[in-house]
Amino acid sequence: MLMFAYLAATIGLVQGLKFMGEPARAKLGNLVAAVSVLVALVALVLATGWASLANLVLLLVLLGIGTVIGQIWSNRVAMTAMPQLVSIFNGLGGACAVVLGLNQVFGQGDLAGDKLAGTVLLLTNIFGAVAFTGSMVAYMKLDGRKLPRPSQSQKIAARVLLALTLAALAYYLVAPVDMGAFPQLMLAVSIVALLYGIYFALPIGGADMPVVISLLNAMSGVATLFAGLVFHDPVMIIGGILVGATGVILTLQMCVAMNRSLSGVLAGTFKGSGAAQADAEQELRSITAVETASLLAFSKQVAIVPGYGMAVAQAQRECFALQEMLRQQGVDLHFIIHPVAGRMPGHMNVLLAEANIPYASVKEMSEVNNTMEHYDTVLVIGANDVVNPAAENDPDSPIHGMPIIRAYKAKQVIVLKRSTAKGYSGAVNTLFDRQNCKVLFGDAKGSLEEVINELKRI
Ligand code: NDP
Repeated sequence: MLMFAYLAATIGLVQGLKFMGEPARAKLGNLVAAVSVLVALVALVLATGWASLANLVLLLVLLGIGTVIGQIWSNRVAMTAMPQLVSIFNGLGGACAVVLGLNQVFGQGDLAGDKLAGTVLLLTNIFGAVAFTGSMVAYMKLDGRKLPRPSQSQKIAARVLLALTLAALAYYLVAPVDMGAFPQLMLAVSIVALLYGIYFALPIGGADMPVVISLLNAMSGVATLFAGLVFHDPVMIIGGILVGATGVILTLQMCVAMNRSLSGVLAGTFKGSGAAQADAEQELRSITAVETASLLAFSKQVAIVPGYGMAVAQAQRECFALQEMLRQQGVDLHFIIHPVAGRMPGHMNVLLAEANIPYASVKEMSEVNNTMEHYDTVLVIGANDVVNPAAENDPDSPIHGMPIIRAYKAKQVIVLKRSTAKGYSGAVNTLFDRQNCKVLFGDAKGSLEEVINELKRI
């Protein structure tokens, strides 16, 4: 019965993950995965004879509290703060692994009599601790909290802490350890790994955050995998493998998207902030909503490049309305998504799916980048870094080397933004210096509404 339930839960987790890959069924995927975990949990409780009624009550109460907090939290969080929430959830997964590991040695008296079990316990806590504190630092960075500026001393501290962690692990493996001292070793290694997580994430430049987020996600998966080995729990092992493997794949994809090597990101080889360059004043040519509407009406091929500002403005439904309106007028409209647009991997895909934008009209950057000159008009809606040509031709730019959407190649580019502010990296955007680029100032949602109203009149 237990094995059957575990098998069903495993199939549910894999199927849930598959659904999550399709925007239309992503919500269903989330639900299927959550129900699968619940099935595994209930089966485990039933199979172990509930241990005691008190345990069962405690489990149900905790599940209830967690569900209520999670529900309230996700209802209240602003769409723009979603990446921060994801970071916190990811960190909590790591924290759980640390607590489970410590409970095993201190609470259950598992003194890791055999080296293999002890090693797995230590690895559970190392990965869990790094995922926890690293995610908390990532959360603070994404939330714009005040943190010490990246520095050389942080990188040195990170290396020392990593060396200490590995040395403790190696010592445990080779030296005859007094098993009575194992809990103390676990505690010490956990504390050092918690500190390492902080110093690992602190020096990593803001522009590299997409890579860090997906790497920490992979680490929490690996921590779950090791915790599953400790508890001989197949669902935890499989869940951990799925999260760990998908996290690693995503990390590598993010590295490719930013043209950064993983070792470079991890070493915190942050580029200059470009502060001097960023202070330079730029002249931005403006355009009105009326002019934008007539440009669109006379276009045959139009593309929208969404970015973080679309999430801030919550303008995805207006994008859909614009697409519908232009379609009725015989204009073809594509959405082009950059892998690191927004503030978390897949951020733009989620927003566009929420607005029911047909997946067929969503293009990957690599699909269209070599044919951008075919677009008559490109609307850049709240994106900045991901369309900055300085990434291709200014070696001093903090984002130099990152592949961009070549919006500048289109016949006309209109950027929807509120001010002359820079993008996330703080780099000067040389797109605004191009003759074919104009700015429609204002909140993206309001600007799009005005454009749609004008189009109705044409
Ligand atoms: P950027 O952060 O570079 O630019 C956002 C633009 O949106 C700004 O120009 C801003 O200008 C504009 N904006 C903000 N609010 C509004 C609004 N209400 N209406 C209209 N415009 C608005 O975004 P991109 O998506 O181009 O780039 C993402 C950046 O974030 C990259 O540097 C990436 O490395 C980084 N990053 C990505 C992560 C990921 O996983 N995707 C994670 C962490 C960081 P203004 O203020 O003038 O309106």
